[in-house]
Amino acid sequence: ETKPRSLLYLDGVSVSFDGFKALNSLSFVVEPGELRAIIGPNGAGKTTMMDIITGKTRPDSGEVFFNGEIDLTKKDEADIAQLGIGRKFQKPTVFESHTVWDNLELALNRKRGVFSTLFYRLTAEDKARIEEILETIRLTHRKNDLGANLSHGQKQWLEIGMLLAQEPKLLLVDEPVAGMTDAETAETAVLLKEIAKSRSVVVVEHDMGFIRDLGVKVTCLAEGSVLAEGSIDFVSNDPKVIENYLGR
Ligand code: ADP
Repeated sequence: ETKPRSLLYLDGVSVSFDGFKALNSLSFVVEPGELRAIIGPNGAGKTTMMDIITGKTRPDSGEVFFNGEIDLTKKDEADIAQLGIGRKFQKPTVFESHTVWDNLELALNRKRGVFSTLFYRLTAEDKARIEEILETIRLTHRKNDLGANLSHGQKQWLEIGMLLAQEPKLLLVDEPVAGMTDAETAETAVLLKEIAKSRSVVVVEHDMGFIRDLGVKVTCLAEGSVLAEGSIDFVSNDPKVIENYLGR
């Protein structure tokens, strides 16, 4: 029984929209400290799976447990965020008129329920944490620059940093390297591996070179359930994956 120990445990999760089964008895398990890649064709149910995990969508049936015993199907989105599940959507949503540092400070304050940099004085510990995040997201040299002046890839990293300020136990990342340069894409693989040393990360991507760089277990979804799961070599040689995804 993996349930008590797994960080994230989905079993037999189904959900339909107007009679269309977006998820069809999906089972998916993530262990503490694991970095997992998700691939699959458009409409496979990748976004719906993230919506289920974050409480945006309720499953019609199936189990969703976090940290062993917490039943996520009974929690709302705000509770789930508070429990330590962070989600990064595809488009970066940094504050362009704020500096990189202030974006991180705002994110740190948000964790405390403070929504302005004006009312909360950072402790030495807070400042050290922001410096640490800046190092992780490769933006120490840009900390006084406005969000607007970052490259697309740097904005993605900053948003990841803002999520790290919330200290999530599980980070869900949707197509981070779309639109990045090759150098940024390669750096993102290194960066996510570093981040996953202290938390679990689930990353949805179409970029197979990037997935290969990650070198982690891959789950291929199709038609709302798991088509294949394993190493990238195992999954990319699976005839069903070639037919439903790679060969398209
Ligand atoms: P992916 O992210 O893998 O491309 P999605 O999870 O977005 O797949 O979608 C799976 C299927 O469910 C798609 O056919 C999509 O049109 C449908 N779907 C997803 N969310 C909704 C919704 N809120 N209402 C109706 N249909 C939806």
